Amino acid sequence: MTAFNTLPLKPALLASVETLGYTEMTPVQAQSLPPMLAGRDVIAQAQTGSGKTAAFGLSLLQSIDVDTIRLQALVLCPTRELADQVSKALRKLAANIPNVKLLTLCGGMPLGPQLASLSHDPHIVVGTPGRVQEHLKRGSLHGGGIKVLVLDEADRMLDMGFSEAIDDIIGRIAKHHQTLLFSATYPEEIRAVSQRVQTDPVVVTVDAPAEQKPAIEQQFIEVEPAQKLDALAQLLAGERGQHALVFCNMRRDVDAVAQELDRRGYSALALHGDMEQRDRDEVLVRFANKSCNVLVATDVAARGLDIAALPLVLCYDVAHDPDTHTHRIGRTGRAGETGLAITLCTPRERPKAANIEEAGGVPLSWRTLKVAPPRGKTLQLAPMKTLVIDAGRQDKLRPGDILGALTGDAGLDAKDIGKIDVFATRAYVAIGRALATKALERLRAGRIKGRNFRVRPLG
Ligand code: AMP
Repeated sequence: MTAFNTLPLKPALLASVETLGYTEMTPVQAQSLPPMLAGRDVIAQAQTGSGKTAAFGLSLLQSIDVDTIRLQALVLCPTRELADQVSKALRKLAANIPNVKLLTLCGGMPLGPQLASLSHDPHIVVGTPGRVQEHLKRGSLHGGGIKVLVLDEADRMLDMGFSEAIDDIIGRIAKHHQTLLFSATYPEEIRAVSQRVQTDPVVVTVDAPAEQKPAIEQQFIEVEPAQKLDALAQLLAGERGQHALVFCNMRRDVDAVAQELDRRGYSALALHGDMEQRDRDEVLVRFANKSCNVLVATDVAARGLDIAALPLVLCYDVAHDPDTHTHRIGRTGRAGETGLAITLCTPRERPKAANIEEAGGVPLSWRTLKVAPPRGKTLQLAPMKTLVIDAGRQDKLRPGDILGALTGDAGLDAKDIGKIDVFATRAYVAIGRALATKALERLRAGRIKGRNFRVRPLG
């Protein structure tokens, strides 16, 4: 009963599902797709990794009529990273439906190009609330034909203060539309939003069966405040520290911790909400392409990031509330791998740990750590280094061009070249650390696609 072909889906969508290799529906899909396809409002409690994107994606793609050139589906996401990820997933699902126009509209990006691409109405918009609201207000986006509104990670959108923007957006789109609300947690505020914006919703809550729950081993370690950094560095020196996310409660600690780790020989970078979008992108590229092995972040900055299956999450401070703690540790143990989440707790933070214990309903597992002051510099550099090329999609530069330049004239082996990310005006390529200088010199001396672009190393 959980095969996709039991659903009344267009053949084109069933074909995409098959191409993507989805043989069975996930529990969230099995419960939410039938009512969604029947046109009902649905509120679903679903975590990242539950298959929620495909659930609402299939439903909204089923609803749109490509021959009508009008905005018909709007997906609101808390962050640009999540919006990009959702857009990518929708494009894959829509691969067999010709001429679907999907646009991603997020804040932090220049308005001009967005306005230009809105000269014809897209069928689907995926975006962040502030920017979508702005376009609706300006009249560059027309909400009158919207049939489906999706609120993805609604709890995070509320946390980030998007409540008013969402209400305003709803006031500017077609009165009769289907509203699909997805949220990892189910606090009172979410119920209130549902009551405000949904009509007789079908409620879907899926408790992942034990064997499907991501396996996360949690440990709590009591440390004195003065020992925190040494303890952190020591834990990161372990095997799992090769790719780890560290959470701090405060922004100023994020910078201080990242700098101190960097000083101690780790490839650590900070990520927080005060950073320019471009710098955030750069940090995320470097973390994903393995030229940074420790990312130190605030909770807000880490929301919606698509960082898959991290082996280790370290909480430098105990989160202020159990929900935030759950979001943090959910960053490890994804995609069927066992993850480790370690929380450092000072004696003063004990009450917060007790809250987490109470909310989780299981005793916390405490362990001790013999914290030793660092002996010299532990060199724990990331395996790759990033080079930036000051050219991108606007210069018609593609990953293959960069790969070609590196393996051709520059004489590198393809196995020493890592992830290549091409943005509008810049491109990033990861090179095995030992070969980065050579690659840089060769790229500077040679040409990419027959042209000379500026190339510089990062970090
Ligand atoms: P999400 O919860 O939307 O972030 O999706 C988590 C991951 O599960 C994505 O990589 C999807 O491609 C994948 N996925 C979604 N639905 C299925 C399915 N029915 N079977 C297998 N994988 C799926």
